[in-house]
Amino acid sequence: MMYYSTNGKAPKADLRKAVIKGLAEDRGLYMPEKIGRLPGEFFRGMGERSFVDNAFAVADAYFGEDVPAPVLRRIVEETLSFDCPLREVEPGIYSLELFHGPTLAFKDVGARFMARLLRHFTAGEGEINVLVATSGDTGSAVANGFLGIDGIRVFVLYPKGKVSPIQECQFTTLGRNITALEIDGVFDDCQALVKAAFMDEELNRRMKLTSANSINVARFLPQSFYYFWAYARLQRLDKAENVVCSVPSGNFGNICSALFGKRMGLPIRRFIAANNANSVFYEFLQTGSYRPRPSVQTIANAMDVGDPSNFARIWDLYGKDVDAIRADISGATYSDAEIAETVRECYARTGYLLDPHGACGYRALKEGLRPGETGFFCETAHPAKFKDTVERIIGAPVAIPPALAAFMKGKKQSVPLPRAFPSFKEFLLSS
Ligand SMILES: *Cc1c(COP(=O)(O)O)cnc(C)c1O
Repeated sequence: MMYYSTNGKAPKADLRKAVIKGLAEDRGLYMPEKIGRLPGEFFRGMGERSFVDNAFAVADAYFGEDVPAPVLRRIVEETLSFDCPLREVEPGIYSLELFHGPTLAFKDVGARFMARLLRHFTAGEGEINVLVATSGDTGSAVANGFLGIDGIRVFVLYPKGKVSPIQECQFTTLGRNITALEIDGVFDDCQALVKAAFMDEELNRRMKLTSANSINVARFLPQSFYYFWAYARLQRLDKAENVVCSVPSGNFGNICSALFGKRMGLPIRRFIAANNANSVFYEFLQTGSYRPRPSVQTIANAMDVGDPSNFARIWDLYGKDVDAIRADISGATYSDAEIAETVRECYARTGYLLDPHGACGYRALKEGLRPGETGFFCETAHPAKFKDTVERIIGAPVAIPPALAAFMKGKKQSVPLPRAFPSFKEFLLSS
């Protein structure tokens, strides 16, 4: 299958190229040329199949022409080595818990899949180097997704003193093929270093460089697996009529993969995109015009995005038709005070502890659900990942799950570097 660019000015790419390049030459995002509709009998039987079996059918529809079935099957199995359970928070409202992977957030799914697909496409070609700049969550998902993958080295660049200790330990304690670089600067400096590396001719001649950006098709499309799984679970519960799905959204990759699922035939009636105070998409739905602006900082900081990259994909998927988008997606936006109130209220009333991101999804669903509908929201991270914030909100300690405690016991290994490019380049060439 070929992939075209949302900007329409770059040549089409095959899957291999789309995965290795990430972004098209015209800076557009790659879109699969066709989205295969799965047959009615597939959906009727979903409740009887396992997570992996359902996900493999989805993966096969996208990647089956380009990856041999046994390889693809193994990639799906290795990616989904943890469950994404659906828990009832209160009648009619379910939490799709996407935080049971190694770094306790949904980005694990895409990162694990991409690592293995990249490995498949570059096996036997010599070492490949993944450069990733992070302000926290992306670095940990990518580092853990690629941990121990043969022939691939990962360099995570993060701003010194600007990443929480919980996030930092998730990518600085791994060792093996993962190197953490502590940059004396801010996140933008890290990103500038990665960009400069991709532009540097000598570096690219001497090393194979790639990125593991969240817009990469291999990170983005596999996220649709768990929407099919949520639906399968609801089918088993006999709750699969009039399903509504609410997704806490920042860069809009997660919800976009769900919309691709709907295009494949997944019978989810409608979607809610839940924003924090960064409400560019919400306003787009109200006004019909898309006006990006700088992000503002919130307590749901993985959603602090002022110009969501995947807007381009949604715009393209719906043929640039605002009303078509509105027919499938509604919006919501919440201030920090509202997020905190939601975490506190839900915990006090139901005993279910939300993280600040999931709280946006939960609240949007609770406010938007109509009679006769069943809803689920994505709980995108474990509340312990935002321990300080959540403890302050509920006024009680939050237990650290064993996986996170293990990271926190690990020894920090990172290489301090200035933010000037020459030292970064030298480090890469000598490592
Ligand atoms: C990345 C992230 C989000 C936002 O997901 P997008 O795909 O960027 O919309 C929401 N919650 C958490 C915890 C995240 O890490």
